[in-house]
Amino acid sequence: MLPEFALIHKIRQTLLSTHVGLIVGIGDDAAVVEKDEKSVALISTDTVVEGVHFDLRYFSFYELGKKTLAGALSDIAAMAGTPAYAFVAIGIPPKVRENDVLDFYTGLEHVAQEFQTAIVGGDTSLAPHGFFAAITVVGEAPRGRCKLRSGAKVGDGIYVSGCLGSSAVGLRLLQKKKPAENVFVRSHLNPRPRIFLGRVLSAYEGVHALIDVSDGLVQDLSHVACASGVGAQVDATLIPTDKDFESLCKMLKLDPTVTALTGGEDYELLFTMDDTDFEPLQRQLAAKKIRITRIGQVVSDSRSTEGPGDMRSRDRRVYVYDSVGREIKLMRGGHEHFA
Ligand code: ADP
Ligand code: MG
Repeated sequence: MLPEFALIHKIRQTLLSTHVGLIVGIGDDAAVVEKDEKSVALISTDTVVEGVHFDLRYFSFYELGKKTLAGALSDIAAMAGTPAYAFVAIGIPPKVRENDVLDFYTGLEHVAQEFQTAIVGGDTSLAPHGFFAAITVVGEAPRGRCKLRSGAKVGDGIYVSGCLGSSAVGLRLLQKKKPAENVFVRSHLNPRPRIFLGRVLSAYEGVHALIDVSDGLVQDLSHVACASGVGAQVDATLIPTDKDFESLCKMLKLDPTVTALTGGEDYELLFTMDDTDFEPLQRQLAAKKIRITRIGQVVSDSRSTEGPGDMRSRDRRVYVYDSVGREIKLMRGGHEHFA
């Protein structure tokens, strides 16, 4: 099977259908469609499959429900939007009991209430093997204010919220059956979609491109770079990580730099911005204790031959440098579910 990225590219080429209200189709974190004079609607779908995205040995159904909706809402945050409604489709294998399903919905409902999202429908099916869920979220953004992957401009700073790599470390701790209650395990089991931050960013004209970090920094940044037709330079030493990240990585036999660059599911926001907006933004976010860090800059990409919007190249267009300015080459950009 092709890599997921290349497969979506081919799927996109076979689809010609359109509709008068469509503003942005396949290729961003959510589709953007007409709503009313003041706002546009956002629509996105996210799927989780047992054995691919989660393991029931260390996820309770309640936690799984919370994480699944949080991950789906993150794509609305990644458009600088606000969620409103969700549909939930589930596939239930024989081993899953009624109470498990209801626990899953209790988890969904807690996150739905926290982010004022109404779950208004879905679908229920039997599944032969693993449990799966697909969540479609509908949201909105003020007209002209949602932030796309394709807006990055040469000269922008590249910024990220929070810390990266924590969820990957948490996953490894859980796999090694060392699930101490710590920030890493929490970050894997109970990620927080950055809805508030997305809304704040929507008001900044200088924020030119936005995506959430679901598949790993390098891979998600490459989506921005490809969609914008630019290059992205990252200084690996600037990537923010949680306290004890390096020592835990060593204990778990993970390379800290590679983990910070490629670990998925942190659901932080990654954006490119005119650097003059950094100070006012930082001041506004300090009260909410949201940290943002500048990790690199957008450059013109002389090495790449693809045009803007080309979805075939995955890790190209992103150039990562170590503490002495040597380029770090990664074998893979991040999580890739289709090997
Ligand atoms: P994210 O990581 O933000 O969830 P994806 O990589 O899953 O984004 O998707 C990228 C884009 O491709 C989105 O616009 C999504 O709607 C679209 N897409 C993904 N899978 C399919 C598919 N099977 N059919 C049509 N569009 C798809
Ligand atoms: Mg996304």
